Amino acid sequence: MTSLWPKIEPALARVQKPARYIGCEDGSVGAGSLKGLVGWLLIYPDTYEIGLPNQGLQILYEILNERDDSRAERTYAPWVDMEAEMRRRGIPLFSVDSHRPAAEFDLLAFNLSAELVYTNLLNCVDLAGVPIHAADRGPEHPLVVAGGHCTFNPEPLADFVDLFVIGDGEEAVGQMTAAVRDWKASGRTPGSRERLLRELASVPGVYVPSCYDVVYEGPALVSVAPKYPDVPERVEKRTIADLAAWLYPKQQLVPMTEVVHDRLNVEIFRGCTRGCRFCQAGMITRPVRERPAEQVTQMVSDGLARTGYDEVSLTSLSSADFSGIDSVVRSIIDDPACNGEVSVSLPSLRVDAFTVGVASEIQKVRRTGLTFAPEAGTWRMRQVINKLIREEDLYGAVESAFSQGWRRVKLYFLTGLPTETDEDTLGIAELARNCVTVGRRHHRGASVTASVGGFVPKPQTPFQWFGQNTPEELRRKIGLLRSATRGDKGVQLRWHDPEASLAEGIASRGDRRVGAVIEEVWRRGGTFQEWSEMFSLDLWRDAMEAHGLSIDWYVHRHRERGEVLPWDHISAGLHDDFLWQEWEDALEASGTPDCRWTPCYDCGACTGYGIEHVVASAVAPAGGSQGTGQDLGSGGDVPVFLRPTVGAGARS
Ligand code: SF4
Repeated sequence: MTSLWPKIEPALARVQKPARYIGCEDGSVGAGSLKGLVGWLLIYPDTYEIGLPNQGLQILYEILNERDDSRAERTYAPWVDMEAEMRRRGIPLFSVDSHRPAAEFDLLAFNLSAELVYTNLLNCVDLAGVPIHAADRGPEHPLVVAGGHCTFNPEPLADFVDLFVIGDGEEAVGQMTAAVRDWKASGRTPGSRERLLRELASVPGVYVPSCYDVVYEGPALVSVAPKYPDVPERVEKRTIADLAAWLYPKQQLVPMTEVVHDRLNVEIFRGCTRGCRFCQAGMITRPVRERPAEQVTQMVSDGLARTGYDEVSLTSLSSADFSGIDSVVRSIIDDPACNGEVSVSLPSLRVDAFTVGVASEIQKVRRTGLTFAPEAGTWRMRQVINKLIREEDLYGAVESAFSQGWRRVKLYFLTGLPTETDEDTLGIAELARNCVTVGRRHHRGASVTASVGGFVPKPQTPFQWFGQNTPEELRRKIGLLRSATRGDKGVQLRWHDPEASLAEGIASRGDRRVGAVIEEVWRRGGTFQEWSEMFSLDLWRDAMEAHGLSIDWYVHRHRERGEVLPWDHISAGLHDDFLWQEWEDALEASGTPDCRWTPCYDCGACTGYGIEHVVASAVAPAGGSQGTGQDLGSGGDVPVFLRPTVGAGARS
C-alpha cells in the first residue's frame, strides 16, 4: 500500500486544524489493503467538520466495508491552506483512513447535498490527479460518481461526473461494486470503461450522462435523450422500502476534533408527506418510511454506550412527526443506561407537532437550541407554500418552549417566495414580535432570532417553474424587515447573503451548459463557495458572461408549462401533472393535505413504485394533518378543512 503520510505529516505543521487530515477516529476502518477489492473513496466536498457527521456517507461506508469484495475509505475537501501545501509539495488528494492516494481507488464517490460545493468537486478530482472532464478519462482512471439530493438535477455536472446515483444508495452501491469488480477482473482494457458505463446505465437509479445526447435550439433545451436503445429514457430514483432492514450506521464515527452536529445521530425516518412546495428534500424522498420505535431506542442505547456521547439527535425531515415520538423520547430518557444524563434533540421541528410533553421531556438534561421553521410571515403566504401552520400553532409551540424554561427561540423564514407581497414580508417581523410577547409572559429577557433566507427554486418541486427574485429585490425585502425590527430589542434579525442565493440559483436549475461556468469559477480560484468569506458573485457573473449565458434566462425567468426542463429525464416518482397542479394551487393560495393521514392524491411516489408509507404507529401527529386542527380519528375518510385564504383571518 502507498501511504502518503511521510509527505503529509510535515505539511500539517503549516496548516490550521491538522486534525482534519489525520483520521484514526473511533469507528474508522484504519489502514488496510485494497488488494483484490473494489476500492471506494467516499468524498464529502466540504471541510471535515461539515462532512464527517454526514449520515449518508457513514451509512455507505459501513455497507461497503461489510461486503467481502469492497473497501471504502473517506476524505473531505482540504481547506485552502492545506490545498496550497499539497500542491506545493506534490501531495495528491488522499484518504484520511489510510492516507492512500485517491487515484488508487476504483471509484471517487461524492455526496452532493448543496449546489455551491460543485466547484469543490472539480477541485478534488483535479487534486486526485484525475482529468476533470469525464470524456478525457481512460481505463486507468477511477470512476467519478455522485449521489445526494443535488443529483435530482445532475446536468450542471454532467461533463465531470461519470455516473450519478439517484435516490437511496444502499442497494445501488452493491450492484455497482459487482459491475466494477468484473471490470477489474477483465483487465480494464481499452474501450472497457465505455462498456462498463453503458452496463451501469441499466442499473435502476443510475444515470450515465455520456449515454445521453443533448439538443438545444437557441437558448432553449429541446431534449436529453439516450444514445442507445438499452439505456432508459427516464432514470427512476431508488427507494429503500423498509428502513428497518438497514440498521446503519452501527459504528458512528467519533471525531477527535470539533465538528458540526457532534453527537449521536439516529435516523428515525425518511421521507415527508407534508407537501411543502418549496422543499426539494420533502418531494424527492416520498413516501414516509419510519424505523420501528424499538429499533430506534435500541440504536440509541447501543450508540450511546459505544460512543460515550451524552446527546442524541433523532434525525429526519420533520422529527416530531414520528409516530409516538413522545414515548420514544421518554424511553430514551428513562433508560437506566442513560443515567438521566442524556439530552435528546429533534432537528426540523414542525411547530404544529411540538407539544408541551415533548418539550418537557427533551429539556430535562440540557436545553439545546430550539428552532422552528414557519417559513413565511402570513397565513396567505403559508398557504401558497403549503406549510399550513396557523399562527396559534406557532404561538402554542413557542409558549410550550418558554414555559418549559427556554429563553431564546430561533425562527426560520424564506423571502422571495412566489406571489410574496411586502405585507407578507413584514408579517415575518410581526410574527417574531408576537413570539417575544408570548415569551415575556415567562421570562423578562425572552428573545427570538428570526433568520431569513432568500428562496431558491429547486428542481422536482412545484416551484421549479418560478422565476427567482433578484439579489436587489431580496435586499430590498431584507431592508424592509430591518426597518421593521429596528429598536425591537427582543427580535434579532439574521439574513443570508442574497448574492449567494443567486449563484445557488444558477447551479440548481442549470442545464449542461452551466458546467462550463462551474469550471470557469473553479479555474479562477472559486472553491468553498458556500463559505461567506470565500464566496464571490463576480466570479459567477463573469463566468456566465464569458460563456454567453444569461442570468436572467437561467435564474429570474418564469418557466412555461411544457418547457423541457434540464431534469425531465430524471424521475423522483412525482407525476408532472401533480407538480403542475400544486404550482397552480400555490398561485391560488390553496393548500394540499398530508396524504399520510388523508386519502392518497396519487402524486406518483408510491403508486408508481408499488410501495407505501411505513409507519410505526397509526397515531396521527398532534395538531392534525398539516396543522389544520382536523380530527384524524376516522382515518383515511377525514375531509380536509383548510382555512380561508385571507391573511386577516389568521391574524387573530
Ligand atoms: S402516492 Fe399517494 S400516498 Fe404516496 S406519497 Fe403520493 S399522495 Fe401520498
